[in-house]
Amino acid sequence: MARQAFKYKLYHADRNRRLDRQRRIAGQIWNHCIALHKRYYRRYRKHLNQKRLKSRIAYLRNHLRPEWKNLGSQAVQDVIERIERGYELFFKAYRLRKEKKSKRVVRPPSFRKSVKYRSFTLKQAGWKLISPGKVKVGGCVYRFHQSRAIEGKVKTVTIGRDSVGDFWITFSVETEDAAPIKAATGRTAGFDFGLKRFLTGSDETTVEMPEPLKSELKRVKKANQRLSRKLKKSGGRKKARLSLARLHRQIADRRREFHHQTARALSRKYDVICIEDLNLTGMKSLWGRKASDLGFAQFVDILAHHCRKNGSRLVKIDRFFPSSKTCSVCGHVHRELSLRDRTWECPSCGSHHDRDKNAAINIEREGLRLIAHQAGHRLEGEAA
Ligand SMILES: [Zn+2]
Repeated sequence: MARQAFKYKLYHADRNRRLDRQRRIAGQIWNHCIALHKRYYRRYRKHLNQKRLKSRIAYLRNHLRPEWKNLGSQAVQDVIERIERGYELFFKAYRLRKEKKSKRVVRPPSFRKSVKYRSFTLKQAGWKLISPGKVKVGGCVYRFHQSRAIEGKVKTVTIGRDSVGDFWITFSVETEDAAPIKAATGRTAGFDFGLKRFLTGSDETTVEMPEPLKSELKRVKKANQRLSRKLKKSGGRKKARLSLARLHRQIADRRREFHHQTARALSRKYDVICIEDLNLTGMKSLWGRKASDLGFAQFVDILAHHCRKNGSRLVKIDRFFPSSKTCSVCGHVHRELSLRDRTWECPSCGSHHDRDKNAAINIEREGLRLIAHQAGHRLEGEAA
């Protein structure tokens, strides 16, 4: 079973203010729970049990904070579960650090400003789809532009406000199991991510970043300058802030669209696609903020989704595999290769390499080796 999200924009309406109130209440409950967690830890040096927290908040809702009743009880529970998930990640990272298995630092969940608390989530109850584009939440009907049908069984419904001030509704569904792995095209390929070129394939395929996405940094910088020149609390500043938020949203939309297009085409073209399992923090320190701007992690998720749908296989290669430094002709590992070298000559066999292309070939080879290795294991298992 896989998860998929269907996201739609709600129509502007005065009643959306009711949703905003619910969002604010969710934020208040979040902060209240964080305070309780902190106090409990100070007193007893223990983690506050989720069940006790839930009953405490239920009591508050019934007796002391009746306005919290405007938010459905499932949404309240979801707030508490979000915090719990945050603490689980925090504890896990802490354990791994102590065992010296990882250096990653994760902060525990913390207080949030109301404007930064953006959404609340309902599960089975508290909402109802009346007809396409019409949903009832907490006794009030909201309309949204349903651009495509919702497929699968809805598990959760999240309603949120973005920085532009628009409301969105997201249906998270469980979809059918993945399509059976195909062997239709007989084509396999490896891909290398890059700064200059988005993807370089082990065959002749390359994917360039669209021009508007390439120049996004410049545009964001300009909008930021315009914002910083405005006086605090002025109407002009508010306008500039909104236009910056709108620009960010537009860029994110375009990037997602580009990712979907690329992933769809690749998953149709190949039976097997091999990529590197990316070390994003490492890439950020090497390449600066650019790596996160390019949204590699999002692309990998989207690619996995389309591969599942189209029955092609996505193989992720261990990030420590030296894909760039290995000569794809003789296998020599060229340790001295630096990030700046776009092309290089193998000191062992003399082959001339384009850095990215060579990496892509190695990634493909390693991916196919992994598949063969797994298949071997499976055969052994069946024989036993
Ligand atoms: Zn060589």
